[in-house]
Amino acid sequence: SEKTFAMIKPDAYLNIGKIISMIFQAGFKINKMKMSRFTEDTAGIFYGEHKGKHFYPTLVDFVTSDVCVGLELVRENAILAWRELLGPTNTQRAKEEAPESIRAQFGSDGTRNACHGSDSPASAERELGIFFGSDSVM
Ligand code: ATP
Repeated sequence: SEKTFAMIKPDAYLNIGKIISMIFQAGFKINKMKMSRFTEDTAGIFYGEHKGKHFYPTLVDFVTSDVCVGLELVRENAILAWRELLGPTNTQRAKEEAPESIRAQFGSDGTRNACHGSDSPASAERELGIFFGSDSVM
């Protein structure tokens, strides 16, 4: 089976219970879970690939605004299965194309989209390291 990194973002804090139910319902095992708040610096590490993009300042303001919950999820095909459950990045698109998805149900716009999911084994490894590694900055 495969590991992925999932993160419940500050806008979905009140829906943590429902989101965790959906995670179990979809057959994932939760190996690790940690609540932590990003600083501007650690958000810059996590979202380094987006530095310089037009939405970067909004994204950093958002993820540093309150706590996030990071999770290590394990399942067959975990990376793809979690991104399926999330739905499209943009909440409006999620509502149109995947109304049952987490982002459709709990997101509010392009940035405040409830949850994150790693997009490849390499990014899962990197993001799990940031939250749970021995050199964790969180
Ligand atoms: P995530 O990495 O959070 O699972 P993703 O891989 O679908 O989402 P990325 O392209 O990696 O999306 O963007 C990271 C995050 O930046 C998004 O989840 C969203 O919060 C924000 N974001 C991405 N694109 C936009 C945009 N065009 N406008 C506003 N915010 C955006």
